[in-house]
Amino acid sequence: MKRVVVKVGTHVLSDQNRLSKERMSNLVEFLVALMEKYEVILVSSAAIAAGYSKLKIDKGILNNRQALAAIGQPFLMEAYNKILSKHKKLGAQVLITAQDFDSRKKTKHAKNLINTLLANDILPIINENDATAIDEIVFGDNDQLSAHAAFHFEADLLIILSDIDGYYDKDPRKNSDAKLNLNINSIKEEELHAPCLPGFTFATGGIVTKLKAADFLLKKNLSMFMASGFDLRDAYSFAIDDKHVGGTLFSNKKGLN
Ligand code: ADP
Repeated sequence: MKRVVVKVGTHVLSDQNRLSKERMSNLVEFLVALMEKYEVILVSSAAIAAGYSKLKIDKGILNNRQALAAIGQPFLMEAYNKILSKHKKLGAQVLITAQDFDSRKKTKHAKNLINTLLANDILPIINENDATAIDEIVFGDNDQLSAHAAFHFEADLLIILSDIDGYYDKDPRKNSDAKLNLNINSIKEEELHAPCLPGFTFATGGIVTKLKAADFLLKKNLSMFMASGFDLRDAYSFAIDDKHVGGTLFSNKKGLN
């Protein structure tokens, strides 16, 4: 059975500083459909957003963000499991940091855990261990974490569900004539450093961490599909119906199979 990692960002999971139950339900429905066809691993952000819905402290302060992550993570898991139980499925919390992949021994431990969960039809729900991972919390970057998870846990594909429906030739929020790239087979060096270079309009903000994730996977001959997490139709078409209608496929190969 093929293995897929799905990463979903905070923007998709939260609405006005609270978890969006409706979007979480839609996501879980998609994951359950995906579990019919693939082994599925979820990488989920939004622990801090979930924490903030319980305790209103300044998110601009690192210690506060760590506290919010610690408060929010169990609520995030509870919300997932409440929805998963309606589909007779169960999710398991897997908190990891980049260090978990820095030795073969540690990677093997983590992989054994994931394999055991998947063998029992449990959905592993991975998040960075925000409460202790200082660097990660500063960069807030589950995109690259999910790419590493896809590689180390031997997935065939990473699906990134974002607040945008794919990678455009320039920032679509600033350029109304921006065009969606359906297929990308390599990332240029300057695209990875876009925010550092003045005058670059094609990529800013959150897209760069996604391009870094894609670049990491492409160099390992793996594929990444980026689509909207608000409207899951492109994700369904691609992953369930094998039809690439919308969304961006970063791949050296054609299609998923
Ligand atoms: P997420 O919360 O899903 O991780 P982000 O909001 O961090 O996603 O990153 C996606 C954002 O990147 C888009 O909403 C868009 O504003 C911005 N962006 C900048 N350049 C591009 C581009 N070339 N293509 C797509 N999105 C871009």
